[in-house]
Amino acid sequence: MRLLATAVCIFSLSTVFAQGKSPLVFEKATALRYGATITPASTKAQLAVIAGEEMEGRETGTRGQKRAAAYILSQFREAGLQPGANGQWEQHYPLYRDSLETGIITTGGRTFHFGTDFYANVQETPNINMEAGVIFAGYGVVTPERNDYKGLDVKGKIVMVREGVPTGVLREKANPTEKAAVAAFRGATALLVVSKSANRFRLLDQEYLRRTDIYKSRDTSGRPGVYYITPVMAAAIMGRDSVQAEKGLLPVEAPQALQIRFEKKDLTLRPSNVLGYLEGTDKKDELVFITAHYDHLGIVDGKINYGADDDGSGTTAVIEMAKAFGKAAREGHRPRRSIVFMTVSGEEKGLLGSDYYTSNPVYPLAKTVVDLNIDMIGRIDPEHEHDPNYIYIIGDDKISSALRPLSENVNNNFTRFKLDYKFNDPNDPHQFYYRSDHYNFARHGIPVIFYFNGTHADYHQPTDTVEKINYDLLARRAQLVFYTAWQIAMTDTKL
Ligand SMILES: [Zn+2]
Repeated sequence: MRLLATAVCIFSLSTVFAQGKSPLVFEKATALRYGATITPASTKAQLAVIAGEEMEGRETGTRGQKRAAAYILSQFREAGLQPGANGQWEQHYPLYRDSLETGIITTGGRTFHFGTDFYANVQETPNINMEAGVIFAGYGVVTPERNDYKGLDVKGKIVMVREGVPTGVLREKANPTEKAAVAAFRGATALLVVSKSANRFRLLDQEYLRRTDIYKSRDTSGRPGVYYITPVMAAAIMGRDSVQAEKGLLPVEAPQALQIRFEKKDLTLRPSNVLGYLEGTDKKDELVFITAHYDHLGIVDGKINYGADDDGSGTTAVIEMAKAFGKAAREGHRPRRSIVFMTVSGEEKGLLGSDYYTSNPVYPLAKTVVDLNIDMIGRIDPEHEHDPNYIYIIGDDKISSALRPLSENVNNNFTRFKLDYKFNDPNDPHQFYYRSDHYNFARHGIPVIFYFNGTHADYHQPTDTVEKINYDLLARRAQLVFYTAWQIAMTDTKL
């Protein structure tokens, strides 16, 4: 489960209310025989490996994540699955992370340093090593009434501007990105914004400032870099004092050229989604997906974030279901539809693995009948301390009207949990519907169920460890998903 993003993209789906009954389409005793192979002991043994020391918290792009992938695919192989990604077990995808190696600006024998004298967004600022003259262009604003570039030729030059806008000009014109676009349109090669707040960056952790987080596409737009410089630095470039620089009382042209060196180490990571495939019989072209994310937060401030519940529990459930379905198939009980067991990475970085899969699907999305996604099913949240026989169900009624009655009937026949729909309310402030991998399937119109135990004090903490897991609940919740998948894989009509 990823953290709630500050800006949630609202995607509305019409809610269709379920109607009618959904009888079991398989022999209960047969299903029970295989469901019963998922036990507290077997889930405990799996999770001990997945959330163990060796995996180092499974952060996407690290060796811990790669070890986890290798382990999961070994379990899929043992379960009797076939490689699920065009003959491979893993679907690799690119992610990026950059760090600044050299960030200095020099003029007239003086050197200014990134983090102390100026700041630039490392992800958005291109690599550059250049020298050019500096032109001061006031606020750098162009409107029908005002043109700060009037009479200035900035082609091939570095433009320096004040931050903000003069009175009477729209606030939006203060946006540095817009100012950079205005400067670039006139041929400028970089933009310096004189900013008092550039002083505050020296108070922050310099390692952190120099490194980007993981992101999913590298900007190749060729936009000029934007550098936020202190008034003291602006004054030094322009040969004035800093009070004049703060007030924007600067000459049009700097006495000396400026050299900018902004050189990054661009890392490309190759994390993966792990896919195991179990071929169906008469409806094998249609796919039932069972998913969970195997990545977590990794090592933070020297401490391993084990992610036993988040989402070691879901990863365990997927592996255990793969083994149960694999055994059933070997003993003559192959599902009619094919089942894809997929553990994804990149979830904690913004659902990136499932985003990549659904944008680059191995199996046609039009033939993908459901995604049963599991993210945190090994714990009890504070609301259910006295009533632990529950599971939150999210998203089940949003795309197919047939899924909820099917899910409820399976639960009534087998696991008898209280299915809690509280977080399925689109107005719930937690917005869990948008916060795990099923969402990327739902975006493509594929019916989903998201299984979830709610958050707790150990959520996204190094204390989310294996000894706090309730293995009886974990095994039974995995069984609920198992029987639901079995029913969906065997039913006559597509959802
Ligand atoms: Zn999480």
